[in-house]
Amino acid sequence: MFVGIDIGGTNIKSVLADESGKILHTCDAVTAKTPKLINEEIVSLIDKLTLDACVDKGEIEAVGIGAAGSIDRKRGVVISSPNISCWKSYPLVARLEKILSIKVFLENDATVACAGFWFKDRKKNYKTFVMVTLGTGIGGGAVIDGRLFTGQNGSSLEIGHMTVDVNGKECNCGNRGCLEKYASATALVDYAKAHLKEYKDSSLFKRIKHDRLTAKMIYEEALQKDELAIKSFEYISFYLGAGIANIINIFNPEAVIIGGGLSNAHKLIIPAVKKIVSDRAMKGMKESVKIFAVKNQSVIPALGAAKIAMDRLSGID
Ligand SMILES: [Zn+2]
Repeated sequence: MFVGIDIGGTNIKSVLADESGKILHTCDAVTAKTPKLINEEIVSLIDKLTLDACVDKGEIEAVGIGAAGSIDRKRGVVISSPNISCWKSYPLVARLEKILSIKVFLENDATVACAGFWFKDRKKNYKTFVMVTLGTGIGGGAVIDGRLFTGQNGSSLEIGHMTVDVNGKECNCGNRGCLEKYASATALVDYAKAHLKEYKDSSLFKRIKHDRLTAKMIYEEALQKDELAIKSFEYISFYLGAGIANIINIFNPEAVIIGGGLSNAHKLIIPAVKKIVSDRAMKGMKESVKIFAVKNQSVIPALGAAKIAMDRLSGID
């Protein structure tokens, strides 16, 4: 029995799964603001998972963690995390192993999303693909020639911090013009907010009278044909398309798969992304690449984290 935990900038998602990938139970929490509170949330998620699934905690062989940010997978340290800023060279694995007395393995959150898709894709349709996770930020993972690619220390494919505008907006990572400043859920909300005054009839005005503007609201209003909401999706899709054209030119993948919370809006994003890719990616690579959204995206990264715990416990690195 394995636990997989996906720690994002907004939410923590966890699954209890067996060796075959069967999910026995899932549980979520809102990401806390300090390392200590995040650790406490993880302990309580594992308690809930085992209690609800009527499984003894002693049956858990290992815990896999996917964490947003730059990590050292071998030492189990989160080096920095633009969207979970309380982690600075934080020894997450050592702390959790001490609290839980269970073996813990750390990977980047987008790498676990990629592993989750790879685990679920029983037919192994693709041997070389890139996963782009669209959420509060943007992450990435890749399977290359049938092997999960982790880079030198586990921080590969930080697609969200690819420069798409050399003199562009400042990013939390220290660079400027990063893709996630233009194409994430945060960028979607920022764009809509910045242009509200130009769209006095926008239905988004009614929504923000009661609540803070969210990506979900913009999605819902875009489906109702609100002009500003549609424009906001066009804006992020343009930059996402340019970023994905870069990825296609570098990896020559069979597929680019969109995951993360914002992938629920794939009907609004993917056709526009395909158009930009067709305009910008290189001939000979763009024609055959498949671009689509992952199904059941909400549990895929946590399942991937559980799979990574299984593999790394058995010595597959
Ligand atoms: Zn950045």
